[in-house]
Amino acid sequence: MTTHDWTLETQLVHNAFKTDRSTGAVSVPIQHASTFHQSSFDDFGQYDYSRSGTPTRQALEDTIAALEGGTRGLAFASGMAAISTAFLLLSKGDHVLVTRDVYGGTFRMITQVLSRFGIEHTFVDMTNLNEVKQGIQSNTKVIYMETPSNPTLGITDIEGVVQIAKEHDCLTFLDNTFLTPALQRPLDLGVDVVLHSATKFLSGHSDVLSGLAVVKDEKLGDELYSLQNSFGAVLGVQDCWLVLRGLKTLQVRLEKASQTALELATFLKEHPAVKKVYYPGLDDHPGADIQRKQASGAGAVLSFELENQAAVKELVDGVTLPVFAVSLGAVESILSYPAKMSHAAMPKEEREKRGITDGLLRLSVGVENGEDLKRDFKQALDQLKPALVNQS
Ligand SMILES: *Cc1c(COP(=O)(O)O)cnc(C)c1O
Repeated sequence: MTTHDWTLETQLVHNAFKTDRSTGAVSVPIQHASTFHQSSFDDFGQYDYSRSGTPTRQALEDTIAALEGGTRGLAFASGMAAISTAFLLLSKGDHVLVTRDVYGGTFRMITQVLSRFGIEHTFVDMTNLNEVKQGIQSNTKVIYMETPSNPTLGITDIEGVVQIAKEHDCLTFLDNTFLTPALQRPLDLGVDVVLHSATKFLSGHSDVLSGLAVVKDEKLGDELYSLQNSFGAVLGVQDCWLVLRGLKTLQVRLEKASQTALELATFLKEHPAVKKVYYPGLDDHPGADIQRKQASGAGAVLSFELENQAAVKELVDGVTLPVFAVSLGAVESILSYPAKMSHAAMPKEEREKRGITDGLLRLSVGVENGEDLKRDFKQALDQLKPALVNQS
């Protein structure tokens, strides 16, 4: 049987790189060389200079390509390096249609950097396909999706957007950071470029910054590779190894954390201090049906809204288990405050249009015992002063 005959869960452990061909080592060797000797004047080997490729990075790139069902994977120094490099496929005068609640760093790249190079943009609510259709211009070259979106977990109908993109001859990019190929495989749904902050679930331990891009079309793969090599924001070999190690437990981590996320979302929804819960695994989430159709789970990130910033402050001080930090997708639960963290780059009025109010908290659920997490949130919420509890 070839690796493709196994489920993703098994492929994560038993893939083309499970043992080193020359030594049998059960871990991908970290090859530090920056340059490679060519054994004959006429016959150059597979590698020449490490910006262009190294065996360690190749192991990661081939692994993510296989997991996403693509033909080519590319590893970058960060998620933003992967995303920014993909945008280099665009030229002056092109237009990109972007999901309204896009990651804060991507928002900054599009509004402050691409605009200086004559690349235009329009933000639309991508949970609404009519808005997507109406946002298309004659020079639209890319539709940029993020689903579930950050931090309000809006669900975009991926196949619906792909269909619109095909009718208008533009490419689709999708940031798959929140779900990973363990739960959602956008290339199978027709997306052209899948992007990742591998800093999050793929590596999973809050110890490496990294980004990945994956494509199915070989020509697009060649173009992106050329941009990776030209721009040069490649991932170092130690970091490639850390991502490869994290990947082995991706499925078990995500399954466990997603299960706990559903339990916590259900609990939070019932608590009187919580005004609103955003989690696509709840039946009353407006995108729940689409989520079930296009992904095999709702993921481990949820958001919830308290009355105001004062309530947020009390809760953050009152919980013991989660770290209070930027980032997500790790073994430890991470509580973050989008208004001052991931979306600090976004003006307040833009934030509020997107539901990112001063009372909104995002929780990335880790692999701790679910009952312990629930007890921790319960005691912190129960202690909120009556004035900070939703009166309605
Ligand atoms: C973190 C994140 C990014 C940026 O990735 P970095 O690795 O921090 O550069 C992009 N998109 C999403 C959804 C993210 O969560």
